[in-house]
Amino acid sequence: MPAISSKKPYRVGRSSTGLGLFATKPIKKGTKIVRYFGPLLDCKKKKDDAVENKYLFELNGRWTIDGSVRENVARYINHACKPNAESDVRPRKRKVFIRAIKNIEPGEEINYDYGTDYFKAYLKPIGCKCAACERKRKKQRAEARAERLRLKAKAEKKALRQAEKQAAKARENKHELNGAKANGVKLNGKHLNGHGGKLAVGKLIAMKTAISAKPESKPRGESRASARPQAISLSRTPDLSR
Ligand SMILES: [Zn+2]
Repeated sequence: MPAISSKKPYRVGRSSTGLGLFATKPIKKGTKIVRYFGPLLDCKKKKDDAVENKYLFELNGRWTIDGSVRENVARYINHACKPNAESDVRPRKRKVFIRAIKNIEPGEEINYDYGTDYFKAYLKPIGCKCAACERKRKKQRAEARAERLRLKAKAEKKALRQAEKQAAKARENKHELNGAKANGVKLNGKHLNGHGGKLAVGKLIAMKTAISAKPESKPRGESRASARPQAISLSRTPDLSR
């Protein structure tokens, strides 16, 4: 068991997921940072095979390091999908070292990839909280937000277009009505409140003629039927009550 010297280039500190190991000095790429150690478990022994915790480091089919012991500072090193260190496994020597695969600056958290099995068993169910995954999630959230804003802007533009269309239509109707009034036809509510059928045919013809500004030449019965829808639609405009 290596003594923990004051020269060690790391310290245990608070990380985003609890505790973590942080560089206190520059660590050069390729440097052995710390050994991952603990009792060796032999899977052929029932007692050893029954041990279960999050710090088991499998060396090979038979031997596993139980890294849950307090002295194993390397157990504080968190997983990262894009790490700055790696686990250097020496199954024959039954040793594991954590080695820098990048130059690490003081203050930087040290991490290595725990491997697919650990990831699937422990990290995937709760969502990996490493910096790379957090960045990815942040980016996805930003993209989703941008998409929502884009759709909202699109919907607002559409609503505005429709409102403009309706306003234009309303202006047109008003124009037509004003034209009808100018032609001297009285359009009061009684005539246009949807009871067009009860009106005298002659009056309806007069009204329609005035609106379309065309002489009515159709037979009476037919003109009465065709005049009705127009009378109903006109009754919806607010100007009629004046
Ligand atoms: Zn991750």
